[in-house]
Amino acid sequence: MRILVIAAHPDDIEFGVAGTVAQWTDEGHDVSYCLVTDGGAGSNAPDADLAELVRVRKVEQREAAACVGVTDVRFLGYPDGTLQPTLELRRDLTRLIRELKPQRVVISDPTMVFAGNYYINHPDHRAAAEAALYAVFPSAGTRPIFPELLAEGYEPHDVDELWLQFSDHPDTFVDVSAQEDRKIAALLCHRSQVGPEVGDMVRKWDAEDGLKHGCAYAESFRVMRLKQPALDEAVQEAMQESPAAALD
Ligand SMILES: [Zn+2]
Repeated sequence: MRILVIAAHPDDIEFGVAGTVAQWTDEGHDVSYCLVTDGGAGSNAPDADLAELVRVRKVEQREAAACVGVTDVRFLGYPDGTLQPTLELRRDLTRLIRELKPQRVVISDPTMVFAGNYYINHPDHRAAAEAALYAVFPSAGTRPIFPELLAEGYEPHDVDELWLQFSDHPDTFVDVSAQEDRKIAALLCHRSQVGPEVGDMVRKWDAEDGLKHGCAYAESFRVMRLKQPALDEAVQEAMQESPAAALD
């Protein structure tokens, strides 16, 4: 299977999905990463060399990807901190989906505004997720949307499954007990951003998810299955009999 993980910042993937990614690569699936922003707002130091920070964060992200078996890492290079779900971004993500033709795409949950009563979800996470959501559907599979991509040679592609990380409504839990050490090692590759205490915090989150599902560590997702053959057939049959009723 081909799988594409899309995230706003270098390190987002390592917080939420890297354990599951390690499991997928262990199983022989092909996983690619796409980082939408350049991570250049990842320092508040007045004298920070932000161009150097962008360079360093790319290196860290490639190292983190390698920890869980991923070598294809794409950087779209949008400025960090002010991302918007523009048509330009949706086109860039649509191009990537049509190029890689993944059956499964992983994004953040674009509806998540507050996490508990202690964290306001970063707007870049929501913007990247919204652009990616609508790149998956309808843009990637619909021929007349972004005709310029056809001219570039990118034919439409339908994604089968959409996995949302950091969702308020998780319905799928992946046992990552065998992958947790590699996940934390990947997270700690982001040396410019996180220290060992963050690794301990993420391990605790995953242990809490694991406790709910009878394993040591778990990651949680909301999963949309966009291709349901049985449903398609039923809708098609109903459409032939009564198109208006089938759409209700
Ligand atoms: Zn982030």
